[in-house]
Amino acid sequence: MKHGRADFSKHELKRIAHQRILELRTLSALTDDRKLSRRYNEMLSLIALRMDITLEQGIKRSFCKKCFTPYGKDSRIRLKRGMLEIVCDFCGDVRRIPYKPNR
Ligand SMILES: [Zn+2]
Repeated sequence: MKHGRADFSKHELKRIAHQRILELRTLSALTDDRKLSRRYNEMLSLIALRMDITLEQGIKRSFCKKCFTPYGKDSRIRLKRGMLEIVCDFCGDVRRIPYKPNR
């Protein structure tokens, strides 16, 4: 009623967007091309933002939220007082994640 074009319900749109995010995530993980991988991560982040979708932890933690570079074997990961620190080797952004050992 508001925009006149309501072919899909909001729920349906979100479902499609989520599927697209998972596709992009798979593409990003499969490629060895970091530039391409970054592009996929950027695209899925934008979709999530636009559609108000919260990315799953596994996806969120797989790349830098600042430059979208996938964390890889070159990224520095440190364990510091219950926090996991991941340093992006591309832009140097530090991400801190609360870390609780599982038993
Ligand atoms: Zn970065």
